[in-house]
Amino acid sequence: MSEQLVERVARLVQSASRLAEDRVRPQAARWQAERSMGLDVLREGAQLGLTGMQVPVELGGLGLPFSCKSHVGAALAEADFGFSLSLINTAGVAATLALSLPPTVAQRWLPQLLSGERIGCTALTEASAGSDFGAIQMLATPHGSGWRLHGEKRWIINAQVADVMVVYAQTQPGAGPKGIAAFVVDGTRPGFKRSDQGHTETLASLGTGGFVLDGYEVQGDEVLAAPGAAFKRAMQSINYARIYVAAMAAAMVRDSLRIALQYGQKRKTFGMYLPMHQSWRWTLTDAFIDLEAAQLMIDRANAASDSGQALEGVAAQAKVFATRMACKHLGPLQHALGAAGLSPDLALSRHVAAAQVATLVDGSTEMLMERIAMKYASGA
Ligand SMILES: Cc1cc2nc3c(=O)[nH]c(=O)nc-3n(C[C@H](O)[C@H](O)[C@H](O)COP(=O)(O)OP(=O)(O)OC[C@H]3O[C@@H](n4cnc5c(N)ncnc54)[C@H](O)[C@@H]3O)c2cc1C
Repeated sequence: MSEQLVERVARLVQSASRLAEDRVRPQAARWQAERSMGLDVLREGAQLGLTGMQVPVELGGLGLPFSCKSHVGAALAEADFGFSLSLINTAGVAATLALSLPPTVAQRWLPQLLSGERIGCTALTEASAGSDFGAIQMLATPHGSGWRLHGEKRWIINAQVADVMVVYAQTQPGAGPKGIAAFVVDGTRPGFKRSDQGHTETLASLGTGGFVLDGYEVQGDEVLAAPGAAFKRAMQSINYARIYVAAMAAAMVRDSLRIALQYGQKRKTFGMYLPMHQSWRWTLTDAFIDLEAAQLMIDRANAASDSGQALEGVAAQAKVFATRMACKHLGPLQHALGAAGLSPDLALSRHVAAAQVATLVDGSTEMLMERIAMKYASGA
């Protein structure tokens, strides 16, 4: 990356950190209590350019490299993982449309995604197909110059409010990965109905839910990837997503360490501040060492993406390590505050739940272990 680009990325990450501390952290507990999403703040993020990070400048975005999204995602996740992933998913849809469609077609949605007026989501998962993406059953049948879609998606981030969807569907039942194609779906058109399948209150700011497509008509120029190309393309973009999920998991541990240390420096037991007790400070030290190791793996994966090197192995390793590391340490870090760790005003309870989500989205730990095993066995 050129020095100028590094500087632009650093400035944007600083803006994201300010948004996280000034606007996300103070409201995240209320969003969770009210089971709402931080849409007003997401729009403020959009005004900073965060939903257009990877969209080319000539289409109204910032034209920054993928690693920028990983750094911004981490900065926001320190305050709230759900908010971060919600914003990053809209940014992902904006980038997908901008980079896959002719500009005149992408412009049907791009300005409103960039302003945050419309929210995006990416839908692979169905009731009977999660890990086994090749088994999806949403059906795409040719219709005039376009396609007609029938089926249901669930467990989709932002689906409670999104109306610009990247949707994967099967064009040849029984064909598996080679029959899957990708389409843009506009939730304001006939044939789209929101559902609460996959709605979870565990992390309200993620806005997960589902939708049904009942004869939804895709125009001929709204195909994102043809049958045969879409599965490979989904796997490629998931490789990138694994890096930002890893970075977000590490960010939550960093935030929890900071909270625990600040608390310990004010709280005395047996006449001593908490860090004076050896086993207490070792809890934090243990987390710190693992966090450093995770960050090195994330940095390596970000560097591979910036230099166009193969990502699959390093991204999968970073995600497995960082998300497991978060699951291992977030509970003990919350415990290190005693009862105070349960306060809804602190991010710790949300971070603990979010670490669990991080082990599932964009490739569960077991799926990634299989990928890594295959690469390792083949010597790649
Ligand atoms: C909060 C949240 C947000 C999500 N957001 C999105 C989204 O925006 N878009 C989207 O498309 N999807 C989304 N998902 C879905 C997510 O991608 C799936 O949950 C994930 O792929 C796992 O699928 P599943 O839940 O159906 O579990 P299953 O596939 O049924 O697997 C159940 C368990 O078995 C394990 N397992 C499965 N197969 C194997 C195997 N061969 N060997 C060993 N273990 C195995 C899995 O790792 C998992 O632990 C989201 C999920 C959650 C929880």
